[in-house]
Amino acid sequence: SSYPSAARDDDYSEGVPFAMPSSYQSGYMSIEKQRQSLPIYKQQNSLLYLVENTSTTIVIGETGSGKTTQIPQAGWADGNQLIACTQPRRIAVQTVAARVAEEMHVNLGLEVGYSIRFEEISTPGVTKIKYLTDGVLIREMMEDPLLTKYSVIMVDEAHERSVSTDMLLGLLKKIQRRRPELRLIIASATIQATSIAAFFDNSKQRQLVDKDKSLPSRKPAILSVEGRSHTVLIHYVEEPVDDYLRAAVSTTLLIHKMEPSGDILVFLTGQDDVDAALQLISDEAENGSEGIFVLPLYAGLPRSDQELVFSPAPRGKRKIIVSTNIAETSVTLEGIVYVVDTGFSKQRFYNPIADVEALVVAPISRASAQQRAGRAGRVRPGKCFRLYTEDFFMHEMQAEAVPEVRRSSLVSTILQLKALGIDNIMRFDWLASPPAETMVRALELLYAIGVLDSDAKLTSPLGLQIAELPLEPMVAKMLLASAALGCSNEVLTISASLSVQSIWVSGKGRLKEFDEARERFAAAEGDLITYLNVYEAFLASKKSAQWCHQNCINFQAMKQVLDIRAQLSRLLQRLGIPLKSSGKEIQAIQKAVASGFFVNASQLEVSAEGDLYKTVRGGLKISIHPSSVLFRATPKWVVFKSVMLTDRHYMREVTAIDPAWLTEIAPHFFQCRK
Ligand code: ADP
Ligand code: MG
Repeated sequence: SSYPSAARDDDYSEGVPFAMPSSYQSGYMSIEKQRQSLPIYKQQNSLLYLVENTSTTIVIGETGSGKTTQIPQAGWADGNQLIACTQPRRIAVQTVAARVAEEMHVNLGLEVGYSIRFEEISTPGVTKIKYLTDGVLIREMMEDPLLTKYSVIMVDEAHERSVSTDMLLGLLKKIQRRRPELRLIIASATIQATSIAAFFDNSKQRQLVDKDKSLPSRKPAILSVEGRSHTVLIHYVEEPVDDYLRAAVSTTLLIHKMEPSGDILVFLTGQDDVDAALQLISDEAENGSEGIFVLPLYAGLPRSDQELVFSPAPRGKRKIIVSTNIAETSVTLEGIVYVVDTGFSKQRFYNPIADVEALVVAPISRASAQQRAGRAGRVRPGKCFRLYTEDFFMHEMQAEAVPEVRRSSLVSTILQLKALGIDNIMRFDWLASPPAETMVRALELLYAIGVLDSDAKLTSPLGLQIAELPLEPMVAKMLLASAALGCSNEVLTISASLSVQSIWVSGKGRLKEFDEARERFAAAEGDLITYLNVYEAFLASKKSAQWCHQNCINFQAMKQVLDIRAQLSRLLQRLGIPLKSSGKEIQAIQKAVASGFFVNASQLEVSAEGDLYKTVRGGLKISIHPSSVLFRATPKWVVFKSVMLTDRHYMREVTAIDPAWLTEIAPHFFQCRK
């Protein structure tokens, strides 16, 4: 076979130095030394052997053992084929690809590239290692169903069990039947290997008994990478804390005051939390806590700030990284000795009865808590401060998180499976099957928005077009509906704005300033039209960074909006959809929004509890989130894009509508509910 053998892998043989110009050597050597000290390094040969001889190799190794950065570099390149390495998170894709390009002394985008939604940094014919989100790899299957570009596919962070990771595993299992020479590597930070191994075990299927002896074994192999971490001392609080954010801040400052040097990693739940904590810590620092260097880490972080997180703190300062769940396993930070674990993360929860999916701040699992603590033991013995009681850890936390497919809406997932030609959705082979109810709900919704016909087949052209657009189905529906309403130009901008993390810069002690800025752009019709106002003002400012700063707008995000808008515009052209502008006619835009999101239509009900809305589908009681420009206006009828659940259900990204449009837009959907 033309498959690479272990012997070709010079970079990894002991004692073969890089031939480098001597002036560069010291810098390079340190990276090289660092690579050689990683636990995975010692097992390169076993790994190469296993992957050559088996279809599926499962690699288990603690965070930081070198799985993500080293395995793809092990010399797999085979003729024209690439190795793909998937990550559940975009930020991990970007930082890891940059790191590996640096280790290989190449420019990012050449031999090492990456691909996330709306951003492809690679060179056909040159790129050999490609990092990408699992969602993007699934999308690539729409053009190349057997993923023939790749000879090796590594599915990383499999323990996270995100919807798209699970879906990808099911799809890859199908591909393996048609491409027995394809090698899969599944990497995980925790020992869930046996269920994954059983899932990929094709050795007993009679029709697959190999005649061709050169093909790899169908029985998955498991490689455990020996760990190397130090002990971590765990502290619990005696009494439950009632404000985890403040508790996290004071604990962090106490560590800084009382403990010897070593960086601190603080786990919070989301960007808002992180920004608020950053502010509190900096305020304190001005009041005498000197010598600290505080940095945020979350998904929407601009590239320049991402790099700071990985570089050492200025001399004599202690680095404090305040992060969301990202730092649990996705990205490896050096130098952490103390971990502050609030015990919470933002999680998706789906309620099939009310048919809403909400983001909820909820307790993490014991497995996650252990992962978080482990981050303190990378360089030397460390300490983990848990802001919950030992009793809570033992008796309240679940042993492991429920896989995301069991607690998410599956609308996008099912649309994608349909688009990949998988007709019998109910029989798709999942690692953990989602509730049948959730699937039925998703099918109903796709039927309601006109994507599926009564035989559950993709409709033409609408269903096919929606599947083609790299947008959530309801956003895609809104965009496509805008063409007939003569406002595709405006809705294009809205769709692009909905595809970035957030166009606003909040927090950082500018709350009042922020509110005033938002007021300047606020549209009476709601948040989506407000995005349009921001975009137009941004263009009028000649795309000025300074203007963005003055108006609490995220300049990086606006640049992304421009770029995504251009990409979507090309896609619309390809689909033969004309760009039309409605000018000052806002109603057409509202109608387009309603066409996409009518299933989230809600009616105001004035009650003793205050202004509450009730969703048409599911009858859920819900309020407008304070971050919405409609928070005080409370129009009679609205549609929303997403739901957040705290003390109550909140809708976000809200648009006012006229209920008369609903029966016009979706007669079948609203008549049967009356
Ligand atoms: P794993 O995937 O097993 O968690 P990684 O391959 O991500 O491990 O990390 C291995 C090592 O590479 C880490 O210990 C760290 O030193 C280094 N590393 C990884 N990513 C970066 C980065 N973006 N910047 C600097 N060093 C990094
Ligand atoms: Mg990793």
